[in-house]
Amino acid sequence: MTRATPCWEIETQAVRAGQFRTDECEHSDPIFATSSFVFESAADAAAKFSGNQPGNVYSRFTNPTVRAFEQRLAVLEGGQYCVATASGMSAILCLALATLKAGDRVAVSASVFGSTVSFFSKILARFGVTPDFVPLADPDAWQRAMTPRTRLIFVETPSNPTCDVVDIEALSVLARRTQALLAVDNVYCTPVLQKPLSLGADVVVHSATKYLDGQGRCMGGALVVNDKELFDNLFNALRTAGPAMSPFNAWVFLKGLETLPLRMRAHCDHAAAVAQWLAAHPAVERLYYPGLATHPGHERAAQQQTGFGGILAFEVRGGRENAWQVIDATRMVSITANLGDSKTTITHPASTTHSRISAEERAAMGINESLIRVSVGLENPSDIIADLARGLDPIATESRACVA
Ligand SMILES: *Cc1c(COP(=O)(O)O)cnc(C)c1O
Repeated sequence: MTRATPCWEIETQAVRAGQFRTDECEHSDPIFATSSFVFESAADAAAKFSGNQPGNVYSRFTNPTVRAFEQRLAVLEGGQYCVATASGMSAILCLALATLKAGDRVAVSASVFGSTVSFFSKILARFGVTPDFVPLADPDAWQRAMTPRTRLIFVETPSNPTCDVVDIEALSVLARRTQALLAVDNVYCTPVLQKPLSLGADVVVHSATKYLDGQGRCMGGALVVNDKELFDNLFNALRTAGPAMSPFNAWVFLKGLETLPLRMRAHCDHAAAVAQWLAAHPAVERLYYPGLATHPGHERAAQQQTGFGGILAFEVRGGRENAWQVIDATRMVSITANLGDSKTTITHPASTTHSRISAEERAAMGINESLIRVSVGLENPSDIIADLARGLDPIATESRACVA
């Protein structure tokens, strides 16, 4: 099995942790493309089915390639246990199935991923679990939102798209005091930039679809925890409800993890370069990037993250028309709502990712028609900047002409 040691640095963990070798002595991880596993005897089958003896039974329960990914991600997050799932949303589904029942309440930061909002407000609500949406960066609102029935706090930090940041440690204290679990969606930062378990969170939630793959190929998700009982409950929910990760996808994610530390640092450096350029651009009215000293989440991010991430958002002078013009003027950057890819992506949240919520809700989240989100990729930053300049430079010239 794995010879991972906790004293390895993160780059080494990313390459080595969780790997095991079969008798074939392969160097790279094998893909176990099998739905079931055979037993030595009827007694062996009975022992493995009962759980009295460890061993693979069926790939909805365990699969060696998926387990290698789980072990590597657990080591990277500094956690004991991990369950891999078919997507990020199915990780959130398993979390809910394992920890909530009718009558419970969930405190959710208002700025979480769109499908997460719909899951809590439209689907889970039908099963008698009530969500309370809380502004992420408002500590008093979190205090007020907690009720005796609140079993789970669910946050994403930094938030999408305005990069608000919450103090994970302070929230974990609140969670413990009210006997709720704290779950942190760590998609934006990955364990390279932020380790929520070490800050007191009970559960780390991942969409492996984003930076863990990093090249836009596969859907996957994961939950990482330290508590054995919580792990057992999550694992039972997964193996029974069924949204398991496919072995092929686990293999792609294992490969993705090998370069995660390198990629995350490049994403941060490139985003910082693009942010610096945008900050000085006359057509940009407002810039959201936690790496800027002027961003309200800057100090907290500097304390609990080891980098400011690859995602930024900005408001263009002139509303939706100009925002769309900037997006349409790009020739290299991909117009897509996905993020965490080696390719830079650009999106207009108000008309895409956040179009299904009301204008008032959008306004409360700081999302207006001028806002553009960019997930800065691994291309040379000068090429990304040149592509954004195609749409932004003419707007700057126009507005100067108006003033004159
Ligand atoms: C994409 C995403 C999810 C959902 O993950 P899927 O793999 O698309 O199901 C959850 N949280 C965040 C922050 C995301 O960006």
